[in-house]
Amino acid sequence: MRIKRLFWQLFTSNFLIIFLALLAFTFVITLTIESILMHRVSDDLEARAQLLHEDITQRFASDRLDDLDALCDDLGRRSQTRITVILPDGRVIADSEHDPRSMDNHRSRPEVQGALGGRVSTSTRFSATLELSTMYAAIPLRRHGRVFGVLRTAVPVQTVETSIRSIQWQIALGGLGITFLAGLMSLLISRRITRPIEEMKDGARRFADGELGFRLPLPRTDELRDLARVMNTMAEQLQDRISVIVQQHSQQDAVLSSMIEGVLAFDTEERLININNSAAELLNIDPEKALGRSIQEAVRNVGLQHFVEHALSTDHAIEGYITLVDTKERFLQAHGSTLKDTSDTVIGVLVVLNDVTELRTLENVRKDFVANVSHELKTPITSIKGFVETLLDGAMHDKDDAARFLSIVSKQADRLNAIIEDLLSLSRIEQGSEREEITLVTGSVYDAMVSAVQSCSHDADAKSITLHLDGDEALRALMNPPLLEQALVNLIGNAIKYSEESKDVWVSAQLGDKDTVTIMVRDEGCGIEAEHLPRLFERFYRIDKARSRKMGGTGLGLAIVKHIAQAHRGFVEVQSTPGQGSVFTIVLRTTIDRDDDLEVA
Ligand code: ADP
Repeated sequence: MRIKRLFWQLFTSNFLIIFLALLAFTFVITLTIESILMHRVSDDLEARAQLLHEDITQRFASDRLDDLDALCDDLGRRSQTRITVILPDGRVIADSEHDPRSMDNHRSRPEVQGALGGRVSTSTRFSATLELSTMYAAIPLRRHGRVFGVLRTAVPVQTVETSIRSIQWQIALGGLGITFLAGLMSLLISRRITRPIEEMKDGARRFADGELGFRLPLPRTDELRDLARVMNTMAEQLQDRISVIVQQHSQQDAVLSSMIEGVLAFDTEERLININNSAAELLNIDPEKALGRSIQEAVRNVGLQHFVEHALSTDHAIEGYITLVDTKERFLQAHGSTLKDTSDTVIGVLVVLNDVTELRTLENVRKDFVANVSHELKTPITSIKGFVETLLDGAMHDKDDAARFLSIVSKQADRLNAIIEDLLSLSRIEQGSEREEITLVTGSVYDAMVSAVQSCSHDADAKSITLHLDGDEALRALMNPPLLEQALVNLIGNAIKYSEESKDVWVSAQLGDKDTVTIMVRDEGCGIEAEHLPRLFERFYRIDKARSRKMGGTGLGLAIVKHIAQAHRGFVEVQSTPGQGSVFTIVLRTTIDRDDDLEVA
């Protein structure tokens, strides 16, 4: 089916109706005029015949028929009418145009037959004699009620036909003009009708393109006005609904993207249909590229692929752990549950990922710590128990042995005490730091350094180690003086412990950048291999356990320093060259204006 534009449909149908109406009108008018004119001509012919009737009848009555033909010629010429007289047998006895003797029998002519029947008859046809379309009127000639002849008058009807043609031409020309005007009007009317519809069509297209804020202008036609109103209302409602959906969607997006947990959704074909920022970061995925792809393409983690497969195959929520091996190992706790639509049909699976790496590390640290503490405590206790048993087994009776063993027991008890003291101070610092109970005041860095050096001087003297103190006495920093002193004592103690006899140890302080003060403890001791540096500040981490123990170390000294530095919202760092010595640096802050904690550069 050919689809036409409404405008052209309206225009052509209007135009056709007008054109056909005009054509029919012209036809009817022409016919009417033609019939009126013909009637007039036939009436005229009849009247002329009636006028001649008397004269001709008398000629017949007086038998003066010799000059009948001449009379007809004369009357015919004067009245511009062809006059013919015909006998009942059809013989022509007089004719104003031709010689009657040369004329054929006229009995068969319809008007003659009609007149012979006693009626006035007319007929129009092509005359072979005149070679023109001619109208004939014949009247019967009567005597004593008997028809003795027929008087026929005739005129060419060419003039009538010419007038009709001319009228037809005029009507046709007028009609053409009217048709043109009507076409123009039809064009305007069709345009007027279709324009609002076109406007509505454009509006509807704009709605379809999502331009729902657009409003259709109200046309003047009642029905179209209603339609435009209904369409505007529809667009308004659609806009409201869409904005509600968009709002809900953005709320959901906001919730999803602000979640710390990674959220992923897969359809039943295991294609990724949703992913939040956390999940994308955790799995190192570009959401734009991954959406719509299968899990195998989107997520290169076999553990998660199996998990999703399992979650899809079961009806209840499942839980599991996934390990990510990227630049560093991460442990994820995964929760999976099926997604269902309103009719309870499974449409996919939702996976929530929780990064539990920190927790796991903490758990490991805790386990290690418990194991380490147990081990550290067990060693002196085993030793104490052994010597006490030896003493009980009889050694106490030997005075010298008893004194030696008891001094070892005392040493081990001191060691136990040292470990417990260190553990207690570590936990005090940690708790104090967490509860923000450690008060920081602006104090003299130099004073703290002097106190620490004095505390260590005895040990230094024992190894003939010279302690150098270097720093501006006016240097001030935020500190908890007893804790800072303890940290410095630990660092200076280590510097003495891990240096050969007669070496030097420098304790210095200076102003750092960004409102900081750095305190450095430098030695010329054994130094530390680079591989140990990252773990040096862990509890009980020692490079050489036996050596550390021999020197009375608990393995907690540096962990305490680290926690003290953190309690000061600063940090500690180390630089060391094996065989040349080490530098431990504590960085403190000078002001409380800064909100953030300082971090290792
Ligand atoms: P310890 O009580 O064993 O000294 P620390 O926590 O104080 O425990 O130190 C941890 C380890 O770091 C030590 O066992 C030692 O091996 C190393 N260490 C600490 N300070 C120094 C230093 N100044 N020079 C070389 N090694 C050091």
